[in-house]
Amino acid sequence: MVILGAGPAGLVLGNLLHANGIDCLVLERAERSHLHARARAGFLAANTVRVLARHGLADGLLRHGTRHAVCEFRTEDGRFRLDYGTLGRGEQHTVYPQQELVADLLARYLDAGGRISFGTEALAVLGAEGDRPVVTVCGADGRPGRVPARYVAGCDGRHGAARRSLPPEAVRHRRDHGVSWLGLLAQAPPSLDAVGYAVHERGLAGHMARTPDVTRYYLQWERGVPAEAWSEERVWDELALRMRAADHGPLRQGRIVQRAVVDLESDVLEPLRYGSLFLAGDAASLLAPAAAKGANLAVLAAELLAEALLDDLVHGDPSGLERYSARCLEHLWRAQEFSHWMVQLLHHPSGVGGETLFHDALRRSRLTSLRTSRAHQDWFAENYVGV
Ligand code: FAD
Repeated sequence: MVILGAGPAGLVLGNLLHANGIDCLVLERAERSHLHARARAGFLAANTVRVLARHGLADGLLRHGTRHAVCEFRTEDGRFRLDYGTLGRGEQHTVYPQQELVADLLARYLDAGGRISFGTEALAVLGAEGDRPVVTVCGADGRPGRVPARYVAGCDGRHGAARRSLPPEAVRHRRDHGVSWLGLLAQAPPSLDAVGYAVHERGLAGHMARTPDVTRYYLQWERGVPAEAWSEERVWDELALRMRAADHGPLRQGRIVQRAVVDLESDVLEPLRYGSLFLAGDAASLLAPAAAKGANLAVLAAELLAEALLDDLVHGDPSGLERYSARCLEHLWRAQEFSHWMVQLLHHPSGVGGETLFHDALRRSRLTSLRTSRAHQDWFAENYVGV
């Protein structure tokens, strides 16, 4: 079994297969030190924690993660909080930085004797339509190579070799939300005890705790403007303005240690199986980060794929592999629908004229409904934490 990519999807899959006696080789373009430092997600859904705990992969996050169950909306009509841990299914997030989770999964896989080749870039998956595919690679020494496989799991993200190797008939459903965010990591304690979404006419500002000393902030950002264009002072001033700090309390500032511009795009590949090649995680579907779902769906897909592969490779039953794509897509589309709804909730529409006014009035009405309707709040909570 060859797995492309050592992110959450590839490493959960590798751990589950290796623990059940399947020989796996993970091909990872980056070096291990880079994976330990790559800060991305942080909000893990209750189901993600259950999946990881079920397979003995949750020690670190259960020990060091913190529970989170409140979000706060700041809008032109005032402020309201949703204690989503008491709404919907009553589930909470566990906040645990993605790079810590990846480090835990890597350590567990390697300690158990799993094979991984760092610094090795997969170039293409050849012969996926048959049952003896080959992955062409560029090794750590720069030399080309060929890695034969029985099955290949494409867990190498949206720009990986798996996607590049798909046949022309692969369908890519795609949406560009026309909005960009400047993602920031600040060496500063959280400023509020909730996820903060400030919907402002100047654009969204977001606040998400990561650890007691590190907070992620987002600023809606003009597309094409470089991440470094603003000074730290200007960034903090703009965050304070959009988060209405003058009314609701100051932000706890600190050094900005990471900046990256994210264009909000979503896509879904269909199907998720091409002969011996399977897609999981961001390689299967990219989610706009508005609802913090990507890492959670990567873990879910990895478990579904591992179950199906084990049925085939251990018990000789290929029916799970035949169902994998449909099972996974059902969850992906649910998450896509909710993420799309969140994008529309959190951003003023761009442009002028009657149509823009119409969409803006819908956005405001959605926020009012979320503030006042218990049924709407239950629906929100179920989708916000659920995958
Ligand atoms: P990745 O984590 O991208 O891993 C893919 C791996 O494949 C990488 O290690 C890469 O180096 C490797 N690779 C790529 N190409 C090749 C190749 N050709 N050959 C070999 N290796 C290759 N999600 C959430 O659920 N909650 C959040 O709060 C959240 N916040 C986010 C904040 C930001 C700023 C960003 C950018 C994303 C966030 N996400 C969040 C999304 C989440 O990080 C991703 O959905 C998640 O990392 C997907 O996991 P993956 O394993 O599919 O892919």
